[in-house]
Amino acid sequence: MSALAKTLSKVLLSFFEFDIKDIIKFLIFAVLIPFLLIALLFAGPITGAEKLPLINTEQIKMYIDVANKVSESTGSKYSERVQINWRQLVAIDAVRFQQDFSKANSYEIEELAKMFIEKVDEVEERSGEPPNEIVEVYPIYKLRSLDEVLNLLNFSASEKEKVKEFIEFDFSLLLNSAANLPDNWIAVEKNFKWPVPGVYRITSGFGPRVDPVYETMGFHSGIDIAAPTGTIVIAAADGEVGYAGWNGGYGNVIYITHNGGYETRYAHLSSIAVKQRQIVKSGDVIGYVGSTGKSTGSHLHFEVRIGGRAVNPLDFFK
Ligand SMILES: [Zn+2]
Repeated sequence: MSALAKTLSKVLLSFFEFDIKDIIKFLIFAVLIPFLLIALLFAGPITGAEKLPLINTEQIKMYIDVANKVSESTGSKYSERVQINWRQLVAIDAVRFQQDFSKANSYEIEELAKMFIEKVDEVEERSGEPPNEIVEVYPIYKLRSLDEVLNLLNFSASEKEKVKEFIEFDFSLLLNSAANLPDNWIAVEKNFKWPVPGVYRITSGFGPRVDPVYETMGFHSGIDIAAPTGTIVIAAADGEVGYAGWNGGYGNVIYITHNGGYETRYAHLSSIAVKQRQIVKSGDVIGYVGSTGKSTGSHLHFEVRIGGRAVNPLDFFK
């Protein structure tokens, strides 16, 4: 055998000198673990986020704006507007775009939103005499149900199921300014007294939020303190009642003006215990919690304004 052949056979043999343990180690560390890690990487986001639309705040606002624009176009003096639910649009697109909301654009959302409205009639309004007669046509719309729209889109049974799961998702964390208070938080009273003594359950903070009644994007000018109807409401500081009575969305409301350009407002009251121009002392009972005006449940909407501008009431109690 030549020297070359000997060396070659040695090299070849050395490949078979591995211990069976080494082979198992190699299989575990070089094959199995990387495989599992890669599998986890792909499986993780799919299973974890399946029921949670991967949408950002800007994209949600686009859906809200379009839903509102299309809803507004349906109203006229002959018919009330129909309200399209933006959550349904988001849920449909979560399935349609397989969660890739970068595919969403306002044109496509508008097309989808229009599927929710159906023209059921029209009113012709004539003015003037022929040949100068002017005819104006006012369409009358009805809202289609989610199921009707899903059928129009030819969604399968499992896709319909997914849409309904997505609708359950609570977007409030993405959209609403939370009060961000720890559990068992208690107001620290410095310049102001807490308006609902002993009740510190804040259901909506100050700042941008989705309107709970119209589901449009808005700004919450105060904080909502949840309390049963009839719970007493007190004046946060000494002052004069600037207004006490009904005011639209506020329902029964009291405005109190204080020294230094401050004003506090107490809204949705079930009843009012003070009169306009009345001088009140800090801690006086001025009214009772209720749900009057634009409200979805019994609570006090409390505002603090400086020079007319609403500021975060919680800044005075932390
Ligand atoms: Zn409020």
